[in-house]
Amino acid sequence: MATNILNITKEYNTQAKCLSLLIKLRWGKSVKCPFCEKNKVRTIKTQRGRYICKSCKEQFSVFTDTIFEGTRLPLPEWFAAIALVLNAKSGIAAKEIQRNVGLTYKTAYYLAMRIRVGMLMKDTKMNGIIEMDESYFGGRARQLKKVADNYPSISTNTLKRGRGTNKVSVTAMVQRKGIVHTQVMEKLSKRNLLAMLKHYAKKDNSILVTDGFKSYKELETYIDRLEINHSKEYSKGIVHVNTVEGFWSWVKNGIKGSYKAISKKYLPFYLVEYEWKYNHKTYRGNEFETFLKNALTHPKELAYWKSASAQKVKEVAYGK
Ligand SMILES: [Zn+2]
Repeated sequence: MATNILNITKEYNTQAKCLSLLIKLRWGKSVKCPFCEKNKVRTIKTQRGRYICKSCKEQFSVFTDTIFEGTRLPLPEWFAAIALVLNAKSGIAAKEIQRNVGLTYKTAYYLAMRIRVGMLMKDTKMNGIIEMDESYFGGRARQLKKVADNYPSISTNTLKRGRGTNKVSVTAMVQRKGIVHTQVMEKLSKRNLLAMLKHYAKKDNSILVTDGFKSYKELETYIDRLEINHSKEYSKGIVHVNTVEGFWSWVKNGIKGSYKAISKKYLPFYLVEYEWKYNHKTYRGNEFETFLKNALTHPKELAYWKSASAQKVKEVAYGK
């Protein structure tokens, strides 16, 4: 179900209404202390939305350990920004959030980054036909000829694909008619690819489809694999990586259109956004509430949102 921005801003036009929704989505009827997980809490009468835990005596609110922690921005503005981000199917610049919600650029940027943290999805394992492929982002690719001159051992084909450039490599796995997962990889080694594969794919009843890049061959020790030889053809029946290549071109067009360039440091946050959007393309539920529910359950990732390695956000989520 698409998020109707007008309805959101009409329905959640006061801090109290927004707060009730967050409390309902996070705890249901029974407020739970985020510090000791006990349910015996007391509301603090003078401060709306604040609680004190009867067991550990800590104070908290529905914001504690969530993307809303420490915010002074009124929730109706948060909600409007969230609706905008969810509805922008291929990304939205902070400038646009700034204009539409009436915020400073800095606040809009901060909101957008936190909303991306809230989009980090829980792990789900894929099965069936899974395509795996890598792509390259950011930086400036070394000039092809220069690299070719300096590294005669690297084939021009490899260079054209991006392998051997100084861009950031990201690997994606897409289940046909299913979800996508991405991961930034320092090195496209067998070890890294295998770790990702094991993390996201069920081994049984699954077939991996890749191109002929050497490191993918070695994944056969773990999973059944089909290979498409790109120098000959782009698909052969079910043997193709068109789904994952479609994902890449959608992401790249989105980045080009909405964000121009993204630094290596923050790329994983944007990838999280594109993953969420891809994975909710045909979602029939209430995406706005599903997002909020998801965003209220990422206590640890938040701590990393500003850290040098945004990839850590994912690592924490995946319990590495
Ligand atoms: Zn407690």
